Amino acid sequence: MKSIEGKGKMRKLTSLAATLLGLGAVGMVGAADQQFVSIGTGGVTGVYYPTGGAICRLVNKNRKEHGIRCSAESTGGSIYNINTVRAGELEFGVAQSDWQHHAYNGTSKFEDQGKFEKLRAVFSVHPEPVTVVARDDSGIANISDVKGKRMNIGNPGSGTRGTWEVMEAAMGWERSDLKLAGEMKSAETGQAMCDGKIDAYFWLVGHPSALTQESLATCDSHLVNVTGEAIDKLIADNPYYRSATIPAGMYNNEADISTFGVGATFVSSADVPEEVVYVVVKAVFDNFDGFKKLHPAFANLKEEEMISDSLSAPLHDGAVKYYKERGWM
Ligand code: GLU
Repeated sequence: MKSIEGKGKMRKLTSLAATLLGLGAVGMVGAADQQFVSIGTGGVTGVYYPTGGAICRLVNKNRKEHGIRCSAESTGGSIYNINTVRAGELEFGVAQSDWQHHAYNGTSKFEDQGKFEKLRAVFSVHPEPVTVVARDDSGIANISDVKGKRMNIGNPGSGTRGTWEVMEAAMGWERSDLKLAGEMKSAETGQAMCDGKIDAYFWLVGHPSALTQESLATCDSHLVNVTGEAIDKLIADNPYYRSATIPAGMYNNEADISTFGVGATFVSSADVPEEVVYVVVKAVFDNFDGFKKLHPAFANLKEEEMISDSLSAPLHDGAVKYYKERGWM
C-alpha cells in the first residue's frame, strides 16, 4: 500500500506543479492523480458484466485513498478477456476455469499461442453450469436432442463457444449435425430464440442471470438437461469440469436441471503491479457481505472456496499478500 500512497503523493505534487505553471487544465489534474484499471467481462445481460461492475464499485468507493479508478467493459467473454490481459490491454478479466487452465498450460485453444506463463489467478467467483434454453415447440428435452436443430453456440472469443466445441467433439458431433450453428453474442440470443430464429441457445453462465430469466419469462421455453455418457466421461477426464445443478425454482423449472459446468474466475497478469491487485482484492474481501449482495449469483460464495477452488494458474502476489494478511494462507 505504501508505494501506492507514495506514488499518489508524487503525482499530486506533479499535478500541483503543473497547475502552478498554468499547464494544468482541470481534467488533466484529475487524470494525473489516478491510475485506471479495466476489467474485461461479457455481455451486459450475463453475470460477468455485473461481476466486473460489482468489483469496480467497491474499488472506486475508496479511490480517493488509493488513486485507482476501475471500469468494467462489456466484451466477447472468457477467451477474449484472457488474450487481452495477455496483450497488456486489460489489467483484469473474468474467465471460465477451463479456459484459465488451458491458457496457463498452453493447451486446447491456446496451443498455437503457447503457455501464458504470466497468467495469474486472483480468486474464483460463481459456478457456471452449461445452460441450454430451448423453445417449448423445439422438441429439445436433453442435449442429445439438439442434433438437426438451430442452436446458438456462442460468439468466437467466448468461453461458451470454446466449451461448446469441446462438448461437440466429446459427443462425436460435426458442426453440420446442427441445422444452424448461430454465432451471436449472448445478449442477442434471447430475442432471436423468442422470435423463432433459433430453437435454442447454449451458454455457460451463473444463475440467476438476466438473459436466462428474460427469455424464460418472454416466450414459451425451458431449461434442458445436459447429461449422458459423453458428458460423464468429460467430467471424469477433466479436473475443471464437474457435475452441476440448476436448482428447481431458480426460474420456471419445477425440477432440478442436471448439467455440468465450470467456475467463473477472476484473472490478471504478473505484469500488473502487486499494489494494484492488492487494492482490488482488499476492496472485495474487506466488504465481502456487501459484495455478495451486489448480484444474486454471489449469494453462496465463501471466502475460503474463492481463494482455492477452480484456480489453476498461480495466485497473483498482490492477492497472496492480502490472503496472508487475513490469515487465510
Ligand atoms: N461464461 C461466458 C463466457 O465466457 C460468459 C458468461 C457471462 O457473461 O456471465 O463466454
